[in-house]
Amino acid sequence: MYRTCIYCKSNSMKTFKKIAGYTLVKCNTCLLVQTAQPSFKNRNHINQVVYSDEYLGNYLKREKELKLRFRQRVSEIEKYKI
Ligand SMILES: [Zn+2]
Repeated sequence: MYRTCIYCKSNSMKTFKKIAGYTLVKCNTCLLVQTAQPSFKNRNHINQVVYSDEYLGNYLKREKELKLRFRQRVSEIEKYKI
């Protein structure tokens, strides 16, 4: 697990929660909660498999589906407005 805060670059992270198969880690410096990052080796594998040329080539064909998914995610996030 790669445990450097993406915001402040601190290495002081601890497991916060596990939800739906994802591990959330919390930065002890800036308190940002983020998903735990996979190792460099696993990230390379994900980039090659998940973000393959086939996936990226079909991106524009999936425009409507992706826009709908984006709007749904924003709607979910807006429920947590302070
Ligand atoms: Zn931080």
